[in-house]
Amino acid sequence: IDIEVVAETGSTNADLLARAAGLQRPVLRVAVHQTAGRGRAGRSWLSAPGAALTFSLAWHFAGPLRELAGLPLAVGVALADALGALGVPVQLKWPNDVLRDGAKLAGVLIETQAAPAGGVWAVIGVGLNLLMPDEMEQRIGRSVAGAPWLAQMERNALMAQLLGVLATNLGQFAQGGFAPFCARWNRLHAYQGLAVVIIDRDVTLHEGVAAGVDDGARLLLDTAGGRIAIVAGDVSLRVR
Ligand code: ATP
Repeated sequence: IDIEVVAETGSTNADLLARAAGLQRPVLRVAVHQTAGRGRAGRSWLSAPGAALTFSLAWHFAGPLRELAGLPLAVGVALADALGALGVPVQLKWPNDVLRDGAKLAGVLIETQAAPAGGVWAVIGVGLNLLMPDEMEQRIGRSVAGAPWLAQMERNALMAQLLGVLATNLGQFAQGGFAPFCARWNRLHAYQGLAVVIIDRDVTLHEGVAAGVDDGARLLLDTAGGRIAIVAGDVSLRVR
């Protein structure tokens, strides 16, 4: 793995996506500060200088794009494992968030690019809050968390721990897809048994009780009309 550390950039995902077609090896790109971090569907990811760990990992997968549907969830499981081992227990929110005591501690954003020699380059972006200043929480306008305990760790050591766990889990995902992660994800599910709604921007698409994910990484929802399975697209989930 090539490792790059930059003091500041707009978005590590944008940087790696722009180069993905020419990559020969996996690349980890870490930004000390990200000034234009991205979320899903054009949303933004905010971070204050020195208060977060923001990085992207470009990883090659041999299979077709549709096999990557469960990748954000598998990455969540890997982050949960790594954070738990560092003394920060977390839970997962479908499809791509890491929560601490119900508040958003980290986000995962996966963007892809066809590889010229076959397969797909997945650019796996992670933003992990370390410190969460009050004024930032106000700007974000939702329940967010930091992890002051991790903020005290030496950054390279923290990054090395996360990278080690991620690399192991990405290898496992490349071999077996999401299925080997399914039970682990369900054990970490923050909203199991809770009444939730699935929304697309402001429009409610479904409501029901969250019943975990299946081995295709779809969210199972028990609705008035029976159980349905929701594919992660750009939809969002909220507690009702
Ligand atoms: P939704 O909750 O609507 O499903 P999401 O949680 O998947 O969306 P993303 O699109 O992955 O969110 O991330 C962008 C969103 O995350 C922003 O719209 C904002 O609400 C929130 N956000 C931005 N910066 C941070 C941060 N540093 N920590 C926690 N949450 C943040």
